[in-house]
Amino acid sequence: MRAAQERLSLVQGDITRQQVDAIVTAANAGLRGGGGVDGAVHSAAGPELLAALRPIGGTPTGTAVITSAFRLEARGVRWVIHAVGPVWHGGARGEAEALAGAYRQSLKLAAEAGAHSVAFPLISAGVYGYPLEQALDIALRTLLAGLEAHPELEARLVLFGEPTYRAAQAAFGRL
Ligand code: ADP
Repeated sequence: MRAAQERLSLVQGDITRQQVDAIVTAANAGLRGGGGVDGAVHSAAGPELLAALRPIGGTPTGTAVITSAFRLEARGVRWVIHAVGPVWHGGARGEAEALAGAYRQSLKLAAEAGAHSVAFPLISAGVYGYPLEQALDIALRTLLAGLEAHPELEARLVLFGEPTYRAAQAAFGRL
């Protein structure tokens, strides 16, 4: 088995362009589609994605649900995992545990589906306002721990833009 550190990679780019079995989106608890990364994923997957979520209705903060990838299947992506990170309220309202939960459950759903590779955005670090360094620290630590638990999985943290990518590399180096 390759060490968890070797199965986690950082890439700069757009999550909808990743050639992986499953991509994770930063969804809202109502699973209604949104802006940011979720808007990009819904645009790429097509309206079937929203239709598949409607009967599910919603999922609590800190959890995730899995669906087909619809039009992203043409690019080899088989599943979309809709992870609900917390809105940042200052850090004393369980944000860290909820954020870790969103990553942890996403990895579990990917593994249960039979995925071998999964790409994550930096959940909660956009509109939800999670401070960048703290969001990175939780993402990296939780993904590494999750990869220990799922030796069949490889994970990719996809950073949107050069400054965020550089910050992620620095944070990885400090772990
Ligand atoms: P949240 O509501 O959870 O904060 P956002 O979509 O606003 O979600 O932002 C989460 C992170 O995803 C941010 O770091 C943002 O820059 C990044 N992001 C936005 N679009 C994309 C994309 N197409 N691919 C990867 N990351 C993206």
